[in-house]
Amino acid sequence: MVGRLGHAVLEFVFPSRCLGCERSGSFLCDACIDELPRAGAPRCCRCWRPQARSELCPECHAAPPPFESLRSAFVYHGTVRQLVRGLKYRGMTALAEPMAGLLAEAALEFDMETDLIVPVPLAALRHRTRGYNQASELAKHLGRELDAPVRPRALERVRHTPPQARSADAAQRRRNVQGAFRSEDPAVEGNRILLVDDVTTTGATLAACADALNRAGAQSVSCLTFATED
Ligand SMILES: [Zn+2]
Ligand SMILES: [Zn+2]
Repeated sequence: MVGRLGHAVLEFVFPSRCLGCERSGSFLCDACIDELPRAGAPRCCRCWRPQARSELCPECHAAPPPFESLRSAFVYHGTVRQLVRGLKYRGMTALAEPMAGLLAEAALEFDMETDLIVPVPLAALRHRTRGYNQASELAKHLGRELDAPVRPRALERVRHTPPQARSADAAQRRRNVQGAFRSEDPAVEGNRILLVDDVTTTGATLAACADALNRAGAQSVSCLTFATED
């Protein structure tokens, strides 16, 4: 935690500059917010995969995912990519607050039901080396924005999962992450969970997390990510 004075000192050493246009004053200026590439329709109404019409995609039709819906606010390129990478790899946790503000707008726009916010956990080793979980940072601020409780440790990663190849089919991707997560948090039971992550590629990790939350008695699971890599 950096105190008020700490912030003032940091501000002096590293004045905040917009990640998009380098204008000083904030990490993300209003003009660049307006330019962020939104993950617009048409997409599958359940898994948010882009397709010709806003209806259930063939994969969701054949094997419904364990979550009610998946929504991403933006597409992973340009300034969005810089924001995600800044938060994840450059220790810029101050980005979590403005990013969560945009996530909150998306949650309201998509009418997502939320009793409890849960972040996708990192592997324990990665958490130790990075010192924080970027999804938890987003969840913490999102909880404040939506006035909803956050359970940063509701999910636990029980084994390492390989990066998901986009070429693999949905069934294969789901098998790769099956049983990778567990939830033993009694707060999950009977609640509508909003599962949060910074970026999604295939949705398989979110599906595995949703599966664990369902096993812990969640009433429903909706997934919200800042960006989608499609
Ligand atoms: Zn800017
Ligand atoms: Zn779908």
